Amino acid sequence: MSEEGSSKLRLLFATTNAGKLYELRQLAERAGLQLLSLSDVAPLEVEENGATLEENAEKKARAYVARYGLAALADDTGLFVDALDGAPGIYSARYAAPGETLPGAEQGGQTQDQRNRRKLLAALRGVVGEGRRAHFRTVLALALPGEPTLFAQGRCQGRISEEERGDGGFGYDPLFETQADGRTMAELTPAEKNALSHRGAAFRAVVPLLEALARRRPEAS
Ligand code: IMP
Repeated sequence: MSEEGSSKLRLLFATTNAGKLYELRQLAERAGLQLLSLSDVAPLEVEENGATLEENAEKKARAYVARYGLAALADDTGLFVDALDGAPGIYSARYAAPGETLPGAEQGGQTQDQRNRRKLLAALRGVVGEGRRAHFRTVLALALPGEPTLFAQGRCQGRISEEERGDGGFGYDPLFETQADGRTMAELTPAEKNALSHRGAAFRAVVPLLEALARRRPEAS
């Protein structure tokens, strides 16, 4: 297996996130691909201004294909809350705008993630029970030079809790109650989260695409 390394087809995963990279590297290498990341090539500035997760992920992947001529994979994730007509959705990362005054600001919490969660709790004040239903969705776009982009996705259904619980995870995890047993994603171990998360599901869904890619002959270049 290992002596074949240099002849493996190379796939660039457009991420600097160590956790995402670790997960995908296991899958890509098992599929027979050599996975490169943004520590191997210079990152590009790609504006995520698409109307959907698919558009944003494809835009990112395509930018790397165009620049480096390699197969490239990019992801985009959003949290979609029913009572907010799907907000924050594609704007999840920057839901709370810089400088926006939020309730409870005097209690601290300065990171973007903390501000996003505070804004979400405020937006859902007075919303009870099923009204707080939400889901995460992750889209992976696999782009190849001169070919249509392929997509894989994963979803995780849950509910936005009334208060933050748990110390693990990141982003909206302390507010996202999973359907399994009502713990928030921040109360799960990394392995438990991976088993039921949107991102874990998307990574598992992309495996057949990676395996099909690995069966191709590596480019001559
Ligand atoms: P990204 O596309 O993976 O960068 O995700 C966009 C935003 O969605 C992040 O900045 C987080 O706010 C949120 N998010 C994505 N995945 C998760 C997750 O697994 N848990 C909690 N929040 C997440």
